[in-house]
Amino acid sequence: MSRAITGKTAVAGVVGSPIAHSLSPILHNAWLEAAGIDGVYVALEGMDGGFRRLVEGLKATSFRGLNVTLPFKSDALAAADRVNPRARRAQAANLLIFQDGRVTADNTDGLGLLAAFAEQAPGFDPAAGPVAILGAGGGARGAAAAFLDAGCPQVRVINRSLSRAQALVADLGGEAFALADAETAFHGVTAVINATSAGLADDSTPTFPLAVTPEGCVVMDMVYKPLVTPFLSAAKALGRPTVDGLAMLIGQARPSFEAFYGAPPPADLDVRAIALQALRP
Ligand code: NDP
Repeated sequence: MSRAITGKTAVAGVVGSPIAHSLSPILHNAWLEAAGIDGVYVALEGMDGGFRRLVEGLKATSFRGLNVTLPFKSDALAAADRVNPRARRAQAANLLIFQDGRVTADNTDGLGLLAAFAEQAPGFDPAAGPVAILGAGGGARGAAAAFLDAGCPQVRVINRSLSRAQALVADLGGEAFALADAETAFHGVTAVINATSAGLADDSTPTFPLAVTPEGCVVMDMVYKPLVTPFLSAAKALGRPTVDGLAMLIGQARPSFEAFYGAPPPADLDVRAIALQALRP
C-alpha cells in the first residue's frame, strides 16, 4: 500500500470476534486506494462485554464509523443514540456511523443481499413468491426485512431454536418452522437463503432437503468461506441457480463505504477479484 497515513486520515473499521479473517479491510482499503481518498479501514477484535465501552470511547473521537459483525449486531443496536428504520425493523445493526458525538445504527445487510441477487440471479423477483430463510440471527433478520420490504409475500423462517424463529416472525411477519420441518417450508419457495453460522465452528452442519424446492428456486448462502459451500454445492448438483455470500458482503460494504468516507466506492475497481485472491488458501 502506497498511501501515507497522516493526522488527517479518516479512520473507520469493522468490529467482531473473531475478526482476523474478515475481508472487509481488504475491500475498503482497495476502494480507498483506487478512489485516492485519504482514509484507512481497520479491523478490531471485540472483547466479550466490552462493546458498549468501545462505542462510547470511539464516539468521543474523530472515528468515522464501524461495520459490526458476529456476535455484536444486537449490541450495536443497543449502543446507538439513533436507529435508522432498516436497523430497527431488523432489530440488528451492521453499521454504526459516528457524527458530532452521536452514534446512528443502520443495517446494510439487506441491501447487500438484494444486490447479490440482482447481480447473480438477475431474473429473480422478490415479489414473485415465498422465500425460506435458514437461521434466525442478525443475518436472517436483515434478510427477512429486505425481502418483505421488496414485496415478498411471505418469509418462512427455519431455525434450530424454534423460539428464535418465532420471535423473528413475531417482529417481522412470516411463519416459523423447526429444522425438522424444513421440507414443508421448502415447498413452493422462490429462494432459500442459508443465514446460519453452522459449520463455522464445528462439523455439525445440518443437511437440508433442497431437492423438494421447485426447479429454478434460487439458493443463496451468506457464508463465503469457501466461496462454494457444501450447501451451494448441493444446490448446484440439483441444477438450482445460486448466489454466493461474497456478492452480499460486497453489496453491504458499498453503502457502508459511502457512509464512512462521503463518496461511493469506485465502480471500475474489480473488488471481487481482489477478494477472491484473498480467499485463496
Ligand atoms: P447469529 O449468531 O446471529 O445467528 C446464527 C444462526 O445460525 C442462528 O440462527 C443459529 O441457530 C444458527 N446455527 C448456528 N449453528 C448451527 C448449527 N450447528 N445448526 C443449525 N443452526 C445453527 O449470526 P448472523 O445471523 O450474524 O450470521 C449468520 C451467518 O451469516 C454467519 O455465517 C455470518 O458470517 C453470515 N453473514 C454473512 C454476511 C455477508 O455479507 N455475506 C452478512 C451477515 C451474516 P440458533 O438460534 O438455534 O442458535
